[in-house]
Amino acid sequence: MSLTTHKTYLGMAILATFSLISGCDKSADQEPAATETAEITETTETDGIATTETAVVENAEPASTDTVTIYSSRNEQLIQPLLDQFTAQTGTPVELVTDKTGPLMARLEAESTNTPADMLLTVDAGNLWQAGEKGLLQPLNSSIVNENVPAKYRDSSDLWTGLSLRARTIFYDPSKVQPTDLSTYADLADPKWKGKLCLRTSKKVYNQSLVASMIEHYGADKTEEIVKGWVANLAAPVFSNDTKMLEAIAAGQCQVGIANSYYYGRILEDNPSFPVKIFWANQGNGPDDFGTHVNVSGAGIIKNASNPTGARQVIEWLSSDQAQSLYASADKEYPVKPGTDHSEMLKSWGTFKQDDINVSIFGQRQAEAIQLMDRAGYE
Ligand code: FE
Repeated sequence: MSLTTHKTYLGMAILATFSLISGCDKSADQEPAATETAEITETTETDGIATTETAVVENAEPASTDTVTIYSSRNEQLIQPLLDQFTAQTGTPVELVTDKTGPLMARLEAESTNTPADMLLTVDAGNLWQAGEKGLLQPLNSSIVNENVPAKYRDSSDLWTGLSLRARTIFYDPSKVQPTDLSTYADLADPKWKGKLCLRTSKKVYNQSLVASMIEHYGADKTEEIVKGWVANLAAPVFSNDTKMLEAIAAGQCQVGIANSYYYGRILEDNPSFPVKIFWANQGNGPDDFGTHVNVSGAGIIKNASNPTGARQVIEWLSSDQAQSLYASADKEYPVKPGTDHSEMLKSWGTFKQDDINVSIFGQRQAEAIQLMDRAGYE
């Protein structure tokens, strides 16, 4: 579990380069830069006619206090190029510290008021909610974020916001299963799937969030029956990750399973003929059809941040049109800002109805979900 630190520092020359390569609509998304600016007004008089020229001059080197330090659990290779673009555009340096979510949160708690961190960037509303519960975050207070990100993908206490969407849905072996055989997550508990279902471990927050959403929709009793049904239908012991689970479907070990769509996208990129298909869960018109479970990756400002303004600017920039499609497509996710374009591969999977409940609920019901899965024998 290596901890890496990467410092970004880019000057005005790259700013000019970025303007050429980005092709973004700057007028639509001009965010204030963290770099301090000064207005210089010069009045000259020639032949009795006064002319006034005003120029905005940017400081060549931003003050070191302007650096935004981000604790991130996201893949550095995916995130760093985006942050480089932020720096090129705003002049604000960003320092990225990468580790897994658990160690990052422990570090934030231990560092308390001495933390160098200004911002937390991580995945799953369950994790973001935990950070808020531990008192590690402060309110975003951003009208830009509120405008860009629908309320259902933001914390109800404004402590964090989603920045990309990940759908957790059903995958199947098309040589044995027809799409018409599939419908809902709950249907995977039906005895017709006995010995045919594969699942990832319940220890993963993604499954805790999915079950938390089901408790919200069905209540605990019905959800427990469904989870017991899943366990009874398992074709193999639970998998340590979604990729192994998808590969088990491809290998014929099981016929159906539940995974995040970007893992499927990563596999398809390497192997376009991967013999597994995606099915959007809960899309019909029945009482169970509340839409496919959608979770977020997201960010919040650290409570003891020394540069909360810079952190807010990074989050606002990541929620903007110019960053959204890049941020989402970096890992085959969906943009959180409505109307933002996404990749051809994702388009080829078709559109789907998303579950409408607020993602904060995944955190609020997380403890309940963990206990329920334990009672149901879901390991
Ligand atoms: Fe993941």
